[in-house]
Amino acid sequence: MERRRKDPEEALKCVICKHGETAPGEATVPVRRGSCTLVIEGVPAGVGDNCGEYYLGEAAAQRVARMADEAERSGTEVLVRRYAA
Ligand SMILES: [Zn+2]
Repeated sequence: MERRRKDPEEALKCVICKHGETAPGEATVPVRRGSCTLVIEGVPAGVGDNCGEYYLGEAAAQRVARMADEAERSGTEVLVRRYAA
């Protein structure tokens, strides 16, 4: 059965290292689109207490993708932005 994580706010076993648990936190997410590199700070994410890796919920992942599209259209090479809901 496929398990999907709809709620990244919950503490869950870490999907990356399978040892620690993830707790709600914030991540700094780098995204590359073409020649544009966008760094988004303060993205709500589940953060592994063991490995420090993060994963994004569906809403955050979609917003990150939209922000990357905007950044690419702006033609700027490197952008740092705050995630804002
Ligand atoms: Zn982990």
